[in-house]
Amino acid sequence: MIATSVRCLRVVVASGLLLSRATVGRAAPLTIDTAYRSLTPGELVVVTVKVDGAPSTVRVNAFRRVIPTFKTDEGWWRALVGIDLDQRPGRYLVEVEADVGSTVLRQSRALVVTPHKFPTRTLRVNPAFVNPSPAELTRIRADQQFLAEAYARPAPTRLWSASFVRPVPGEANSSFGTRSVFNGEPRSPHGGTDFLSPSGTPIKSPNAGRVVCARDLYFTGNTIIIDHGLGMFSMLAHLSRLDVKEGDTVRESQIVGLVGATGRVTGPHLHWALTVNGARVDPLSALALLGN
Ligand SMILES: [Zn+2]
Repeated sequence: MIATSVRCLRVVVASGLLLSRATVGRAAPLTIDTAYRSLTPGELVVVTVKVDGAPSTVRVNAFRRVIPTFKTDEGWWRALVGIDLDQRPGRYLVEVEADVGSTVLRQSRALVVTPHKFPTRTLRVNPAFVNPSPAELTRIRADQQFLAEAYARPAPTRLWSASFVRPVPGEANSSFGTRSVFNGEPRSPHGGTDFLSPSGTPIKSPNAGRVVCARDLYFTGNTIIIDHGLGMFSMLAHLSRLDVKEGDTVRESQIVGLVGATGRVTGPHLHWALTVNGARVDPLSALALLGN
């Protein structure tokens, strides 16, 4: 699968969509290629690094974050860089360092993030819906604490090797990034993609990993979070049934539960949110780049 992905990247480069200055002209000891759907907030960027020699370590920095790398083949390394939903447009650098013997090879590549206008919906609703009761607030805080801990210690190795898969066959709507204003109060943007699947539809794990959450939460209802390793997490929300428990290891495409309408929803659907080293990205961008 890895060889296939590398081949795909080369095809994209050859088509001229992604022309890296580092790949033009004489071969450099360290070259950086990037693949993406678009360089806008909420998108995944796959960074592929080719290093001559046998580097002991390859480090990648982007958006002021240390991005873990993984070796895909002899001399080939990869890093998954998320452009957060709220990332300001502008010019950013992907900086790469490779230790080859006592030498440190350095190279950087500019990413110019252009604006993306996410839809805004303004709603007038029952104030009780916007302002939770003290008891609900206590529960919400406990959930937040639990989630912060679940995301705090990602597995230090990559737990997946197959392609990412669509968790349900249903259509995805364009809800990712939507800003909601309830009774004039802005809410945090919608950090996932909603798949319109009927209640009871089996949900496949988007890829292999370890289950770090399989419980009922106030906003997201029955929720599964899968740690894919190296800072990548999938959240699957609003399930009617959980078929895994915390601590379980799951394979790609394993059925983890059923679509439902639990938590704060208006109808059954699957909410899939993907976090990549803290950046909230549209899971559809991961399917486009890391799917089959
Ligand atoms: Zn959603």
